[in-house]
Amino acid sequence: MPERPDQDRIGELLALDLQHVWHPYGPMPGRTEPLLVESASGVRLRIAEPGGVRTELVDGMSSWWSAIHGYNHPVLNEAVRSQLARMSHVMFGGLTHEPAVRLAERLVAITPEPLQHVFLADSGSVSVEVAVKMCLQYWRSQSRPGKRRLMTWRGGYHGDTWQPMSVCDPEGGMHHLWSGLLPVQVFADAPPAGFDAAPDRAYADHLRETVARHADELAAVIVEPVVQGAGGMRFHSPGLLRVLRETCDEHDVLLVLDEIATGFGRTGTLFAAGHAGICPDVMCVGKALTGGYLTMAAALCTTRVAEGISRGEVPVLAHGPTFMGNPLAAAVALASVDLLLGQDWQREVKRIETGLREGLAPAKQIAGVTDVRVLGAIGVVQLDHEVDMAAATRAAVREGVWLRPFRDLVYTMPPYVTGDEDVAAICRAVLAAAREG
Ligand SMILES: *Cc1c(COP(=O)(O)O)cnc(C)c1O
Repeated sequence: MPERPDQDRIGELLALDLQHVWHPYGPMPGRTEPLLVESASGVRLRIAEPGGVRTELVDGMSSWWSAIHGYNHPVLNEAVRSQLARMSHVMFGGLTHEPAVRLAERLVAITPEPLQHVFLADSGSVSVEVAVKMCLQYWRSQSRPGKRRLMTWRGGYHGDTWQPMSVCDPEGGMHHLWSGLLPVQVFADAPPAGFDAAPDRAYADHLRETVARHADELAAVIVEPVVQGAGGMRFHSPGLLRVLRETCDEHDVLLVLDEIATGFGRTGTLFAAGHAGICPDVMCVGKALTGGYLTMAAALCTTRVAEGISRGEVPVLAHGPTFMGNPLAAAVALASVDLLLGQDWQREVKRIETGLREGLAPAKQIAGVTDVRVLGAIGVVQLDHEVDMAAATRAAVREGVWLRPFRDLVYTMPPYVTGDEDVAAICRAVLAAAREG
């Protein structure tokens, strides 16, 4: 069979995609043609256009916070390749292997000391499900089965499976679609904005009162520390996390920190809890865990929680995914964590922070911009209207950059290896997207 011309193949792939393939939060059939990525290397995505033309885009998204070292990294490639030559997967029930054991050892070493036990899950949402199960099982084993609700604050995001959805922001999470089906959780008001703001007294009291009022039925408080990501890219005072830690201790409520977006350096500390100097009872990590190579997340817990579960009527943790501890994912996660720790990552994140502050400052002059904020390697421009995604994306692509705005936000969290000129290009693209979106 003669080979079809390249532009036919590209056009065919895009047409098939619209017809058959769901995309995140997308309609079916698809309405807007996605960009076709042929390969990616460093901080660049190589796009094949329907006419057969190739273009390169600087990635401003790190593939949703995950690709912190960029793409096609020789060290990460080698970690996958050498693990592949041994085995890509074996079941984790009754069997174990070095990549999973070493990864767990490393995670225990780099997280706050009381976190000693690691459950390897296949995605962030699943790690949140597991974290919730840990907390519910803990209270059952303490003969307090009435403690089974969760508390969070508004504006959060914890994933798209059922329990995580129940603690996402009720409006952004479209809870009305699921009323009567989703567990009804306790919501405090959204935390006041501002990383540098002193913790708001009245708001701290509101948190304390809400925990106190529901203490008998609360298994845990779950929040994203310091940065609420997909719920609205908002930053809050680390002092509020200390308030939550104290209040939870006072009222016998567990504290779960969802570090899936913030973990591995993104906000300037290795974990965002580090800004507050607190330790949660359960911590979830994901996204950047594997350097964006494969899907894996983890829920870590303290010995108190683990021992509590073991004393229960069902003395085991009732969860065990088929691909738990996947060796390929564990091997590349270990390599990614070591790659991060083996460099002066704080300087790189600081360098990007400085570049974003300079490059995004002019956004304040753009009509319709209500806020410009930067923390670590996260830059956000907020508008007074819903972004026109198609127009904003076109504007960014014209500047040679890949961005994925949502709601009223144009934002970036570039890979840590992004050079200064590419950071500047990303900033120009954010400005263009804010102007034209
Ligand atoms: C992305 C995210 C999740 C969900 O992770 P998935 O791997 O997409 O299931 C949960 N919590 C936070 C804070 C996230 O950013």
